Amino acid sequence: MSHFIISLDFELLWGLRDHHSRASYGKNMLGVREAIPRMLDLFHSYEIGATWATVGMLMCESRDELLDISSQVRQPRYATRSLSNYAYLDEVGETERSDPYYFGLSLVRQIQSTPRQHVGTHTFSHYYCLEDGASVESFRSDIVAAQTVANRRGISLRSIVFPRNQYDAACLQVCHDMGICCFRGNQQHFVYRPSCGSKQTKWVRALRLFDAHTGVFGHQAFKPRWNVGLMNLPASRFLRPNTGKLASVNRAHILTILRGMTHAATHGNCYHLWWHPHNFGSDVVQNLKSLQVILDHYRILRDSYGFVSSSMEDVFDANLDTRRTRKINQDSGQSYSGIAS
Ligand SMILES: [Zn+2]
Repeated sequence: MSHFIISLDFELLWGLRDHHSRASYGKNMLGVREAIPRMLDLFHSYEIGATWATVGMLMCESRDELLDISSQVRQPRYATRSLSNYAYLDEVGETERSDPYYFGLSLVRQIQSTPRQHVGTHTFSHYYCLEDGASVESFRSDIVAAQTVANRRGISLRSIVFPRNQYDAACLQVCHDMGICCFRGNQQHFVYRPSCGSKQTKWVRALRLFDAHTGVFGHQAFKPRWNVGLMNLPASRFLRPNTGKLASVNRAHILTILRGMTHAATHGNCYHLWWHPHNFGSDVVQNLKSLQVILDHYRILRDSYGFVSSSMEDVFDANLDTRRTRKINQDSGQSYSGIAS
């Protein structure tokens, strides 16, 4: 079966605080409050399944709860202190009503109440696994905190998206130990390889940008793999915002995505599209138009080739069902002709 996977990194200011503030990026953050409900409406009408990888800190209902859980965490000691979101707790307001830049529980509730949406984790503190000062112990403690706040909201975490796509085998092992079953890995080309911030050179970023508008490094469709006991559903493409300097070439970017989706649907593969809600924040209408073009294309592929919209959790469950069927067939002596996904 071929799957069209969508995941969103829902992080508010926690995802950018080391290089942005309310003053420099506040418009995008407030725009999230319009973007998410409208994305959910679109997902509902197109019957789209999606994973919302959510930062645990934004799921706290108040500053008191945030401080209480944070006090129980073994905090990372990054060499670059500005990377740690614990350094910004003093500037956080009391509740979502007074501080919509850091708290977003009402949006999480809307996601939970929309059919086919799953809430996964983007770690508790937007944790950076490959930065100097990160450790297995502090990462484990972070995931415990993420589970604590998620459980209080009635959410069982089954998927993870690693902040800034930084992960290694040790972090995957922690996730596996904690009951997480799937993650979004990085695209296959070397320019997408997991690395710390200092290794994200200008020319690597330029190559990614070129690829986003041309697909020069391939269609990025894939079959799920397994890493350290977790299902790896690597990113195919980051949906770039249709605003700013690159708006004039956004059409080339969208066409690159559509070609990749078509390749996946016609070859029995998966295609995994991702973005941040705040990418839509400065011009919600224009970005929703781009998303609608993609969803219209998905509908055509669904009707023509059986392309299935899925969250990350959906793909994991579908694969487990296929494995079970294979085991039953093997046990009963029937032949089996392979797993589609
Ligand atoms: Zn992030």
